[in-house]
Amino acid sequence: MPSFKYLIMGGGMVAGYAAKAFVESGIKPGELGIISADNALPYERPPLSKGFLAGRETEKDILIAAPEFYETHGIEVRLNTVVERLNPSQKTVRTSSGEEYRFENLLIATGARVRKLDVPGADLAGIHYLRSLADSRRIREESERASRAVVIGGGFIAMEVASVLAQRGLETTMVMIEDRIWKRLFTPGMSDYFRRYYEARGVRFETNAPVTAFSGNGRVQSVSLGNGKHAPADLVVAGIGVVPETGVFENTGLKIENGIVVNEYLETGIPGIYAAGDVANYRDVLFGGYRRVEHWDNAVKQGQHAARVMTGSREPFENVPYFFSDDFDLSWEFWGDTAPADRAVVRGDFETNSFSVWWLERGRLVAAFVMNRPDEERELAPEWIRARREIAAEALADASRPLRDS
Ligand code: NAP
Repeated sequence: MPSFKYLIMGGGMVAGYAAKAFVESGIKPGELGIISADNALPYERPPLSKGFLAGRETEKDILIAAPEFYETHGIEVRLNTVVERLNPSQKTVRTSSGEEYRFENLLIATGARVRKLDVPGADLAGIHYLRSLADSRRIREESERASRAVVIGGGFIAMEVASVLAQRGLETTMVMIEDRIWKRLFTPGMSDYFRRYYEARGVRFETNAPVTAFSGNGRVQSVSLGNGKHAPADLVVAGIGVVPETGVFENTGLKIENGIVVNEYLETGIPGIYAAGDVANYRDVLFGGYRRVEHWDNAVKQGQHAARVMTGSREPFENVPYFFSDDFDLSWEFWGDTAPADRAVVRGDFETNSFSVWWLERGRLVAAFVMNRPDEERELAPEWIRARREIAAEALADASRPLRDS
C-alpha cells in the first residue's frame, strides 16, 4: 500500500498552496501525496469566472505550480481519484477504485460542491454550474455559439459570469430569488448601483424570481420563473451557492458542523488529521466563534498555514477574511464580516464609480468594501478591522480629508 508522511485529500487551491509550503518547509521527495477528484493539477479558481472564462487566460496560465514542480519535488499527484472512505484509526483512505493509501498526517481539503436546482427540466443540455476548470471551459465553448444567456443567482458567480457573457455579446438576463443584487452582502444603495451599472451594459434583471422549470427539446430554450415570466435562453449558468464536501467523513469521528470543525491550528479532534479551505469551520481567534470562509484568500492562506503546522510550526491561524471581484471594468475588494454591523457608511461617490462602504458595530469597524479609492483605504481597511478600531461615522463619510487623519 502506498504510504505518505503527508497526504492531501482534495486537489484544489489548498492543495496547490500547501504543496508549495511543504516544499519550503523542507519535506523530502516521496513524503507528500495529493489525491484529487479533478482531472487537472491544482489551479487558481478566481479566473474560472473571470479571465479564463473570458478567453484571456489559458489552462497553463492558471496552474498554481507547473507540472515540473511536482516531479522535481517528488510529490505524487493522483488525478481523477475519488476517496470513498477514511479510516482514522488505521490512518488509511480507500478510493472508489479500491486502492488504499496510508498516511501519517492527513490534510482534508475537499472544498465544496455546487448547490443544484431541483426543478423540472434541470437535466437539459445547456444548463451549467461553475466550479471546476472543466465547467468553465464548457461554458466558454458554449458561449461562442449561444446568443441568449440566463444567469441564475445574485452572488459572486452570477455577477461575474453575467458580466463576462454580456461582454462576449450575449443577450444576458440575471435571475434571482431576492428583490435585489446580493442582498446578503450589499447595502440597498450598492445593489442599486450595480444594477444600474449592469443595465447600462445591456444586462436585464428578473428579481423575486425563483426558477420553477426549464424547458426545451433536449437543450434548454426557456426558463420559467415564479413571477410568471419566461426567459428565453440557449445557455444557462446557475451560481446559487456551495455546500461543504463532507459526505465521506460521516461516522469517522470527525466533528461535522457547517463543514469540518477545526481549532485555530486547523487541527480536527483526531490527532494527525487537519482540514483547510472551504470545508473547514475553524476557530477564529481574531473575532471569536467559528468561521467557514469560501474564498480564494482563505484557501491560499489556510493551505500554507496547514502545511507549516503539519511540519512543526505552532502558530494559530489569524486572518481578516478578504475577497475581490471583477465585474465589467470594475474591480473591488472586501474585508471583514458585515454580519454584526448595525450601520454602513458610504465614502466617496456612486456616480463616479469611486466609493467605499464601511460597516460599523457599535462604532467599531467590522467590514469594508473598497472600489477605485486611494490606496490608503485598501491599506487601512484590514488593519482597522483587525483592531476593531472605533471611528466616527462622520469622519468616514468625509472624503475631503485623508482617512488616516480620521
Ligand atoms: P454565493 O455568493 O453564496 O451566492 C449564491 C446566490 O444564490 C445568493 O444570491 C443566494 O441567495 C442565491 N440562491 C441560493 N439558493 C438559491 C436558489 N435555490 N435559487 C436561486 N438563487 C439561490 O455563491 P456563488 O455565487 O454560487 O459562488 C459559489 C462559491 O464560489 C462561493 O463560495 C463564492 O465565495 C465562490 N466565488 C468567489 C468569488 C470571489 O471571491 N470573487 C467569485 C466566484 C465564486 P441568498 O443569499 O438569499 O441565499
